[in-house]
Amino acid sequence: MTEVSREWYDTYMMPNYAPAQMIPVRGCGSRVWDQQGREYIDFAGGIAVNSLGHAHPKLVEVLSDQATKLWHTANVFATEPALKLAKQLTELTFADKVFFSNSGAEANEAAMKLARRHAYNHHGEQKDRIIAFENAFHGRTLFTVTAGGQANYREGFGPLPGAIDHLPFNDIAALEGAFDDNVCAVIVEPVQGEGGVIAADGEFMSAIRRLCNSHDALMIVDEVQSGVGRTGALYAYEHFGIQPDIMTTAKGIGGGFPIAATLATNEVAQSLQVGTHGSTWGGNPMGCAVGSAVLDIVSDPETLAGVGSRRQALEEALMQIGSRYGVFDHVRGMGLLIGCVLTDAWKGKAREFLEAAQSEGVFILVAGANVLRLAPSLLISFDEISLGMQRLEKAVQAVCGTNESDS
Ligand SMILES: *Cc1c(COP(=O)(O)O)cnc(C)c1O
Repeated sequence: MTEVSREWYDTYMMPNYAPAQMIPVRGCGSRVWDQQGREYIDFAGGIAVNSLGHAHPKLVEVLSDQATKLWHTANVFATEPALKLAKQLTELTFADKVFFSNSGAEANEAAMKLARRHAYNHHGEQKDRIIAFENAFHGRTLFTVTAGGQANYREGFGPLPGAIDHLPFNDIAALEGAFDDNVCAVIVEPVQGEGGVIAADGEFMSAIRRLCNSHDALMIVDEVQSGVGRTGALYAYEHFGIQPDIMTTAKGIGGGFPIAATLATNEVAQSLQVGTHGSTWGGNPMGCAVGSAVLDIVSDPETLAGVGSRRQALEEALMQIGSRYGVFDHVRGMGLLIGCVLTDAWKGKAREFLEAAQSEGVFILVAGANVLRLAPSLLISFDEISLGMQRLEKAVQAVCGTNESDS
């Protein structure tokens, strides 16, 4: 019998990730155990994916039930779970129509293809410009990574798709200056996640809406990370009092099962006619069954209301740790998408905190080198929050101690 070991990663897998040395094998709620049986509190949530924690009983039930019925048909057939989830999504959002895929990048790829095709159909092929923002993240396909605002993610992959411009985030003047009638779409994250957990300003989101209206461009809201209750509203655009033309959702909607969707108004959706776009697995019955159950639970007002109180508990604990050790400058983001900005003295060291946290038994994320990021389950208990924060404090203490003795 061979024990699966972390060394296999280096032997058999492409070296594009740097996973932790320990291997998680089991999760329940906001706790995870590794091969040695060590327990961790999960503030990372699989990068804002495990919206209901690990092995939520309802999701286990729905997935097991669907697994005995029908796994896959491809889109030559409509399936009950896909129809049900599409109906739910349109009833709960601005949208009238849904296209299913399997990941955030695919959902954004479809969104931008739809916007280009819509402009081509209604205005002509000169209307092809897409406005995106610096530090944005929209995925890793060639089109989405080009829309993303981190140049190093595109390096060496050219030639890249054209007519995509990057403007500074939250800069209305830059937006006004760059807009013209050849813009077919603006793609924006209501809260930049990978880019450092930075919320869009209300006025900025309104300006995008207004300029899109006056130039016949479509507003695409990328809610892959901010959606599905993460900010305390079902979708973050609701906080801004605007409605997009196209929205993408992924990560949290599957609660850990890979599923994504591109949503649009009826008028815009008409540009995706038979044969224009597709996906073999998009709308997979297993994923859609889970997605429906996730939406049922997350759209419950009690779940959404719980986001605010959990954020408050996490933010207070972070500020306390921060003031005791002088490590955190401020806490930002919305709801349970939390960014904890390191003070100048600790700039560039986010990864050290993440690694120390793992050693102390708590999972966190980073968003760049200067920001710790938390995206726990929307259902994390207050006991788990305080236990995780005790462990995080030990981690901070360890990092501070090490660096003192270094210097
Ligand atoms: C994670 C993320 C994506 C990409 O999703 P994948 O499922 O990794 O392709 C796109 N946009 C945003 C805002 C994200 O956070």
